[in-house]
Amino acid sequence: MARKRGRSIEDRVRDQVKKRNDSGGTFRPILNFDGVDPKPTAFKIEKAGKIKISILPYIVATDNHPDLDIGDEDYKLEVYVHQGVGPNNDMVLCKNRTYGKSCYICEERQKLIDTGLEWDNEEVRALGSSRRCWYNIEVPGQEEKKIQIWHKVSWTNFEKRLMGTSEEDYEDVVIFASLKDGAYVNFKAVDAKFGTTKYFDYENFSLESRPKLTDSKLDEAYALDKLLIVPTYEEVKALFLGGEVPEEKEPTPEPTPKPKPGKEPVKRRSKAPESEELESSKCPFDHTFGLDCNNHDSCAECEEDMFTECIDLQEAMKEPEEPKKRVLKRK
Ligand SMILES: [Zn+2]
Repeated sequence: MARKRGRSIEDRVRDQVKKRNDSGGTFRPILNFDGVDPKPTAFKIEKAGKIKISILPYIVATDNHPDLDIGDEDYKLEVYVHQGVGPNNDMVLCKNRTYGKSCYICEERQKLIDTGLEWDNEEVRALGSSRRCWYNIEVPGQEEKKIQIWHKVSWTNFEKRLMGTSEEDYEDVVIFASLKDGAYVNFKAVDAKFGTTKYFDYENFSLESRPKLTDSKLDEAYALDKLLIVPTYEEVKALFLGGEVPEEKEPTPEPTPKPKPGKEPVKRRSKAPESEELESSKCPFDHTFGLDCNNHDSCAECEEDMFTECIDLQEAMKEPEEPKKRVLKRK
């Protein structure tokens, strides 16, 4: 059980979770804002309590989008990511679960399963990916920040519940992001715990009509798909194995046509990253990375980034396994 640290571990965990919502940190980003002007602020939830945001639609600009075509409108970017990859704890897009393409890490995971390990085996889980969302949002009261990006939002804790609320209240499930008939999304961030891990959970969702937005909002909103860093198979492999990432640097998509809906069967759930040999060595104190976070006195000594990644991984493990069929109706 979590023992109380002398120093406020709660504050620290809160910081970690906050950081998790940020694009920054030392992890390899999923979105690339190089050359983007103006650069959007990363939305941060500072403390538990009521929150009101306005989710904006954007126009899909590239083939990077997992489901939609160029010119379509969407209100989020929803992809799968592997976290804590390789010695640098990188985060990287999972092209298997996102596009149904080859992913080195997923292949390594499958190899483990083929040797007879169960999906919930620690090593197998470590190679899983988690579903995250990115949003263009505006926050009443933070007008000076203009459009903010909410990064890496847990699909389970936010998007899924938002969809549930929206479906209950409206026929068109994405109406909350509509320019004309949109709605503010109200919800509550609450301090939550998974095992001994603390983080913000989201509850009490409700929609509240918002003023009409002009079409210019669509142009202002960031095309999230365009910012997505789609790594090559070799890049993922190199990150995973800890080698040099082949110099290729392209946040652009490969011109391969994407297999739209049917994606790959997606192996069960799982969550989190690393390889067998990393698994044992990743935790600097020889505890189980992604499972023992904040369970040991030494956790208080852990490096911030390592600690964040460990928490993230634990949280990710409670995500449900079913891949979902995305409902996207538009008027
Ligand atoms: Zn993968």
